[in-house]
Amino acid sequence: MNIVSLIAPCGMNCSICMAYLREKNKCPGCREIDTNKPVTRVRCKIKNCSIFKNGNAKFCFSCDKFPCTTLEHLDKRYRLKYGMSMIGNLLDIKKLGIRKFIKNEKLRWACPECEGTICVHKGYCYTCGEKRK
Ligand SMILES: [Zn+2]
Repeated sequence: MNIVSLIAPCGMNCSICMAYLREKNKCPGCREIDTNKPVTRVRCKIKNCSIFKNGNAKFCFSCDKFPCTTLEHLDKRYRLKYGMSMIGNLLDIKKLGIRKFIKNEKLRWACPECEGTICVHKGYCYTCGEKRK
């Protein structure tokens, strides 16, 4: 599996998303093929942005318009609602590299009680139900 496959072009970590963590109708992540994916992901403006068409750009920070208004809106919504920043993630990826970023993310979203993952949307662990600190 490609290392970036669970980090979306916008900086979202798909592995902490409720669509990815849930048992039923599990989403394979924004970068995977569109089968089984919620329609909101398939139609995502960012993923379908022209800068990703030729395959050279992997993340929004490679764009001249970074951060564009679409990304800023998404980022603001996530900061206010879920305490997570896409733009912050992207700047970290740019600064630290994808491997280090993923390593940090694993620690950041690890459940303190079990081996599970804290879901960014729900704010608790999908395995044991422990809340995010
Ligand atoms: Zn847990």
